[in-house]
Amino acid sequence: MSQPFTTLNDGSKIPQIGLGTYQAAAEGTAAMVETALGLGYRHIDTAMIYRNETGVGDGLRASGVPREDVYITTKLWNTDQGKESARAALATSLDQLKLDYVDLYLIHWPVPARDLYLESWEELIRLREEGRVRAIGVSNFMPDQIDRLIDATGVVPVVNQIECHPAFQQVSARAENAKRKVAVQSWSPLGQGELLGNPVLKTLAEKHDRTVAQIILRWHVQNDLIVIPKSVNEGRMRENLDILAFTLDADDMATIATLDDPDGRMGPDPLTFE
Ligand code: NAD
Repeated sequence: MSQPFTTLNDGSKIPQIGLGTYQAAAEGTAAMVETALGLGYRHIDTAMIYRNETGVGDGLRASGVPREDVYITTKLWNTDQGKESARAALATSLDQLKLDYVDLYLIHWPVPARDLYLESWEELIRLREEGRVRAIGVSNFMPDQIDRLIDATGVVPVVNQIECHPAFQQVSARAENAKRKVAVQSWSPLGQGELLGNPVLKTLAEKHDRTVAQIILRWHVQNDLIVIPKSVNEGRMRENLDILAFTLDADDMATIATLDDPDGRMGPDPLTFE
């Protein structure tokens, strides 16, 4: 199955559809990743805090897919922010993954109350220069926090991974990131599964003879968002990757726009989350 790629601001490319692994149990992760790679996924999203990096690395090796063909993201956890601790955290992640490098390393949350994200960013820049990570980005960052990184270092994050789905569409955040050439990755792209029973989306699914999950993921892709839906189920993984052979028309997109809700956030608020 051929896959679309998004070109990032450093010229590198990321597969636009990836596999999320949050809440994937450590012992099941290797099989999940192996299955996904067998289906054609080439992008896996993990994090130190998910406690499944070992399984991600094991699944990659078990799949037989060459390392260089798979895009692996992991993230710096909040309590590891800071110069030395960020360096040590990446070393631990690479040990657990049993890899020499990750394709993308993200600061997981800004944690403004601790004010260590700039210092962490400076260390990520050094780690990238050393080749331990190929690209660096952020997650859950506000535009002014991204500006602070850029003003201090001149290095623009390649992505900002933020909560985004039809019930919380992040229209203004998406525009602010685009203005800075920061690609947006949607986390909880399916609204943690809660949007799958939405009647408006169900009508669109019937119209296109697709599932609701496919309608939602197609909406992300047509909005130039990078998506990382999570599933451990082979049939659902296949379904989530198979979203290229149909198109939502302008009316469909306008219908989905009406589902946006300023109170639709399902995860924590990045301004206060520690
Ligand atoms: P999601 O929106 O991907 O939804 C996952 C849920 O939907 C699961 O219950 C799954 O069983 C169900 N599902 C998936 N595909 C389906 C299908 N085709 N049909 C029916 N049900 C289906 O939620 P998520 O896991 O919260 O988010 C995806 C990924 O985003 C995570 O796994 C993680 O990698 C990342 N994430 C990042 C952050 C961050 O702070 N950066 C926060 C949350 C999640």
